[in-house]
Amino acid sequence: MRGQKPVVVAAAVVASLCLGAGVAAAGDGWGPAKPGSDGAGDSYYPQDGNGGYDVADYNLKVGYDPASHQLTGRQDITARATQSLSSFDLDLRGLTVDSVKVDGRDAKFARTGDHELVITPARALWRGQNFKVAIAYHGVPAPISDPSLGANGWQYAKAGGAFVAGEPKSATTWYPVNDTPLDKATFHLAITVPDEWGVIANGRERGSVKAPGGTTHVWAEETPIVPYMTTVAIDKWTFDRRQRKDGTPVVSAYAPGVPDATKQAEARLPEILDFLESKFGPYPIDAAGGIFLNEEIGFSLETMSRPIYSAGWAGTVPTIVHENAHQWYGDSVAVAHWRDVCLNECFASYAEWLWDEAKEGVDLNKQYAADVKKASARFWDGKLYDMGAGNEFTYVYSKGPLMLHALRNYIGQPAFAFVLKTWPSLHRGGNASMQEFQRYTELVAHRSLKGFFDAWVYGTGKPADQYLFPGGLKPAA
Ligand SMILES: [Zn+2]
Repeated sequence: MRGQKPVVVAAAVVASLCLGAGVAAAGDGWGPAKPGSDGAGDSYYPQDGNGGYDVADYNLKVGYDPASHQLTGRQDITARATQSLSSFDLDLRGLTVDSVKVDGRDAKFARTGDHELVITPARALWRGQNFKVAIAYHGVPAPISDPSLGANGWQYAKAGGAFVAGEPKSATTWYPVNDTPLDKATFHLAITVPDEWGVIANGRERGSVKAPGGTTHVWAEETPIVPYMTTVAIDKWTFDRRQRKDGTPVVSAYAPGVPDATKQAEARLPEILDFLESKFGPYPIDAAGGIFLNEEIGFSLETMSRPIYSAGWAGTVPTIVHENAHQWYGDSVAVAHWRDVCLNECFASYAEWLWDEAKEGVDLNKQYAADVKKASARFWDGKLYDMGAGNEFTYVYSKGPLMLHALRNYIGQPAFAFVLKTWPSLHRGGNASMQEFQRYTELVAHRSLKGFFDAWVYGTGKPADQYLFPGGLKPAA
């Protein structure tokens, strides 16, 4: 959802009108109220997210005590029913729900399965109705253990702070949410922590105020955001505040102990964003920056407007280029399904190639030939589409940039550059699939690309030479 303000005042009136004229309304497609789906239908994670409504805004107030790990939350959700609802689900892992209200009335709730919070409002919600949900909850958040990535979601830093990072699941570890990339919403966070702790999150700073038990830090992400791209990080941060030339705030935060080399790499962020803008079109987010942990985790993540970086290996220009390229390819244009994840990772990885070409003078054709030469048979077994749950991140970083470099040579530089630069604007704030990307590229290139996509993206095995060495590409000597 984007820019749509809730029309809450009309909700009660609409509901009573519908009750009075139920038979007539049924003819308009307003069928009897039914439970919303408990999943959003992803082919890999069918239970993630929910059906029957669309969230416009999360307004989350959290108190957190780093000493006890206790979190107390109050979530206010503004949403619109997309079907008539007798009940609907949110997603939340662990934590204790204390109360739920829908449009100010106490609602029944139950916890089922791994992460479902089933809410039955006192009055059914009618299709098209805007409504508000208020949830009070508390507890000690726990990360999700992922076999390949390690901990996901709310995590604890050894120095006593905490932070949120995870893909494909993360947000459910600390607030009630419709946990699907298909439901984007604005995200407002007010978090109270003891005075000695600092906070960084997505979007723009809205100031800090003294509160009982500490200081409340307010952050607002007004660019609709996918739940797993939301973050908060609590530490004794050093802040670096700058602006892009157009005034976009750039806020980066460094945990104690982050080396100077990392800060010097991040100091190039305005240059990196200018470069990416020259390739991908206008920067699609209302803020920028980075969160630099002093904690080794299994990944860095393109949390919106403010990627979060592991300590150690991650504080380098290529990683910063990669995570910021995701702001176009992954954040603004999110996957429709997790099987489409190459639309995020293949492009962010190829952004590193483009940076090396422009800034370091790397001959990409030579690099491509060398990578093809050293690729093992197993390398070509990986798929860039529908790779299977748990395998999303196995081949996209290695085979992905090769595929895009081959595509550039197959359709020619002008068409390729045009696609890279216009695709993010075409789907800005939305979701997209690999098939849509293929169709758009075919439109721009004025030819069918079925053979190319079958060879590189949908299929396995080493592509035939016409797809492996098109245009100016040649095997390594
Ligand atoms: Zn990535």
